[in-house]
Amino acid sequence: MSNERVNLLGLTRPELEAFAVEAGGKAFRARQLMSWIYKRGVADFAAMSDLAKEFRALLEQRAEVRAPQIVTARDSADGTRKWLLRADATQAFETVYIPEPARGTLCISSQVGCALDCAFCSTAQQGFNRNLSTAEIVGQVWLANRELGMEPGERRPITNVVLMGMGEPLANFRNVVPAIRILMDDLGFDISRRRVTLSTSGLVPQICKLAEEVNCALAVSLHAPDDELRDQLVPINRKHPIAELLAACWHYVERQNARSVTFEYVMLDGVNDHPEHARELVQLLRGHPAKVNLIPFNPFPGTQYRRSGEAAIGRFRDILNAGGVIATVRRTRGDDIDAACGQLVGRVADRTTTRLGGRKILPVRVVHA
Ligand code: SAH
Repeated sequence: MSNERVNLLGLTRPELEAFAVEAGGKAFRARQLMSWIYKRGVADFAAMSDLAKEFRALLEQRAEVRAPQIVTARDSADGTRKWLLRADATQAFETVYIPEPARGTLCISSQVGCALDCAFCSTAQQGFNRNLSTAEIVGQVWLANRELGMEPGERRPITNVVLMGMGEPLANFRNVVPAIRILMDDLGFDISRRRVTLSTSGLVPQICKLAEEVNCALAVSLHAPDDELRDQLVPINRKHPIAELLAACWHYVERQNARSVTFEYVMLDGVNDHPEHARELVQLLRGHPAKVNLIPFNPFPGTQYRRSGEAAIGRFRDILNAGGVIATVRRTRGDDIDAACGQLVGRVADRTTTRLGGRKILPVRVVHA
């Protein structure tokens, strides 16, 4: 039954206007609907008091506001909260809330699993299952705001969104771009362009395409200063090597009139954390609109990698800064609940025993990119 209804959560403003007109209302009803849905977090059409009664009745028949269903919620000692959300009877995905004094960041997923097979990422180990829909992507933010107790008219708990959860957002371009539009629409979540960050492992053609579509902030998972090493760590590099990737980044900045691109660099002990790597990175990035975010590696079961020592990370950062490349170290958050970077796997307790919707959870096949 509910499958036939239109989920308003996934519709961009023009799509919602078209829906309102098609449903016999006026286009401006879309504005009212968006305000109820995003500014006030309301899903119940009956509660949308400034809409005509007949229109509300029609909405109830034809539409719904459906966010993903929560399977579990876990809280970290540091205030980070992770929700496991249902994708279907057997699959789940994760979304992570990271509170900071002046902002609330939500790290959202764009796919169930991932096909890109980065050597140090636990999401890669589960392989790719499917793309999330626009409604499921936007629904993570909508849900988190509600769960965190948003109040109409007050500042919403989620002030920043990073597409850094499970999946490669640019491999789900078709659903991710409208989701970003809804996040940034002033009638939608109304989050400014600097507070919505898309992180990619480096799908070069899609970076160029993105530059024509939306103007969110861009982060790129670099992780190595040369092709030989990056080929191993981020296999997509074999298709789109560093020079090509950086050219796309500088194009993005220019086209978007953005400040810079953030380059993520996971610190792997003895692999990519040598001072020489830092000096090579300076050569690559100096003089360009680039910032570097060093991410201490977060271990997961079965990994061959270890986190670089604090001293090595500090030295690496200092070499970058001294070379004129702004670098910061990302503070690890939520690692006690497996919510830190690279630890998201949509794990449903124990895959072999947990049942969702009465069906057995099957182990996921690993797909190589
Ligand atoms: N697929 C996108 C989005 C994931 S973002 C991308 O690759 O950018 C998550 C960030 O955490 C990426 O920079 C990713 O490379 C990094 N990461 C993955 N596994 C990690 C781990 N185990 N420890 C620390 N960072 C990790």
